[in-house]
Amino acid sequence: MSWESTVPYYQILNREVGRRLGGLHSARVLMLSVDFHEIEILQHQGRWERLGEMLSEEAVTLETAGADFLVLCTNTMHLVAPAIEESTSIPLLHIADATAERVRGLGLDRIGLLGTRFTMEETFYRGRLEGHGISVLIPEAGDRDLVHRVIYEELVLGEVRAESRKEYQRITEGLVASGAQGVILGCTEIGMLTKPDHASVPLFDTAAIHAETAAALALVPGSAQEESRG
Ligand code: GLU
Repeated sequence: MSWESTVPYYQILNREVGRRLGGLHSARVLMLSVDFHEIEILQHQGRWERLGEMLSEEAVTLETAGADFLVLCTNTMHLVAPAIEESTSIPLLHIADATAERVRGLGLDRIGLLGTRFTMEETFYRGRLEGHGISVLIPEAGDRDLVHRVIYEELVLGEVRAESRKEYQRITEGLVASGAQGVILGCTEIGMLTKPDHASVPLFDTAAIHAETAAALALVPGSAQEESRG
């Protein structure tokens, strides 16, 4: 949702389609990038209904423009996924479903979750993971505040700080000590800060997983991307 994480999404979509189809193939993408300033204010005011209306309008624009399916490039805003799904007739590739499949694919079922306070504390995300048979651990309240603050005051501005990385590592290993077999980087900007070798367990970068899954879905027979192969 911040343009900082739109960049890796766009790169991964194109690289994955190129890798799968070869040659000079690239992804057919309709990208509708929003002004995060207004979104962030409404999030912190708790005005989710308004946000649902706004994103639904954007989704209808994409459907009208010919999109086969929708990818909402943020974990947090999946809080309004039901409103978007009600307003459109094309599928929404839910980021928690894509991530849960990857987690279960590694045979894991007890996982730590880092993200915004909304993602860690509300049920829309954890509940979705639990629906896939995954139990979810979150940091204690003070650490949730820290993780949230680093996202909104640093990462969405493209700032990557060594001291924040250390704090995220400490919190990650705390979740591991509590029994997490892996940790979901449940905010699409965390992958800028935390890399696989920063933890003793598998890390699940939701931006990468979501974009890779979208590329695979775009190539199923009958999709516009597949038909353009010529
Ligand atoms: N992109 C982040 C996420 O995945 C947080 C910023 C936002 O609210 O979209 O939750």
